[in-house]
Amino acid sequence: MGMGKCLTEGICPICLNKTNSIKDTNGFGGLWVECPKCGVYVIEESVFRPGVLGLRLRSCLYYYLTQQSEDLKEKKLIPDFQNEDVEDENSIFKYGQRLLKTISTKSILQLYPKDIHERIGMIMLNLSNEVQYIGNTFAVRKPVGDPEKYNLFFLDEGFGAETIKEQFNGILDFLEKQELIKYYNNGSNGNMNYKITPKGWELIDEYQKSHQNLAQGFIAMWFDESMAPAKKAIMSAVEKSGYIAQPIDMKEHNNQIVPEIFFEIKRSEFIVADLTGNRGGVYYEAGYAEGLGKPVILCCRADQFDALHFDVKQKSAIKWANGEDLEERLKKRIESTIGKRQPI
Ligand SMILES: [Zn+2]
Repeated sequence: MGMGKCLTEGICPICLNKTNSIKDTNGFGGLWVECPKCGVYVIEESVFRPGVLGLRLRSCLYYYLTQQSEDLKEKKLIPDFQNEDVEDENSIFKYGQRLLKTISTKSILQLYPKDIHERIGMIMLNLSNEVQYIGNTFAVRKPVGDPEKYNLFFLDEGFGAETIKEQFNGILDFLEKQELIKYYNNGSNGNMNYKITPKGWELIDEYQKSHQNLAQGFIAMWFDESMAPAKKAIMSAVEKSGYIAQPIDMKEHNNQIVPEIFFEIKRSEFIVADLTGNRGGVYYEAGYAEGLGKPVILCCRADQFDALHFDVKQKSAIKWANGEDLEERLKKRIESTIGKRQPI
């Protein structure tokens, strides 16, 4: 799908529904989208390249925007989805009255469900968003398929575009056989109406409780130029372990910790805090995460290790020599303490 088509037809490139407003960001090379389903976000032109914005990515973007994000819709902080790696850039910058938060598609793809349990849970959460209340129905065009619903089901073009409808129908049949949804009646326009069953609601409730956090690792560190290799190493270790890497580089904001940072820490699975440079903000963010009961993994460059505050020295911080060393050891640490999320 081209950027032009989205613009002229006012279609959200992620959920394919009609937007409230969609415009060129003029200078940021992307689209500013206000979608009734997805909320407000920016998507870079490069993400529209053929082969980039596939179903797998659309599903992950949709989930990122719609789940656990009642707050996100209200926030000034707008996700800015980019195709390339964002290691060398500021991850937050000003856009009018708002803050844009850069996030790479590579990172977002980590949200793709890692096993069948996750996949069913995530699909059911998506379906619960389709209904207003218990007993309300949701409509799908089965077996013809409706592309604007595909992103709800984490379908995968990897198996060939011709299999998409088969996957779509297969998932619906599976959910029905598991008694998580139930066929209700035929609606208009060839729609079939389904209801979520009591068993389905139970699963949704359970999944919500056990997955309150995003599969995300928050990165607190000194965002100095000299730290570029370390930033790259940390992001890579977090992503390779199966999590979204969320650095928030606040270079321009006078070391102030904005509420949006606390919001991102709150919904992260864990936090990586690199203490090199002894920045007050990093200690603060690490302390906040620890207070919330989140696992905090501390790191520090070897030459500065002795300068660390005494109370954090007690914790087994990763004392690293260079980027390569840091990436390897941090990845091992994440996988042994938080757990590796395996792709399916
Ligand atoms: Zn949308």
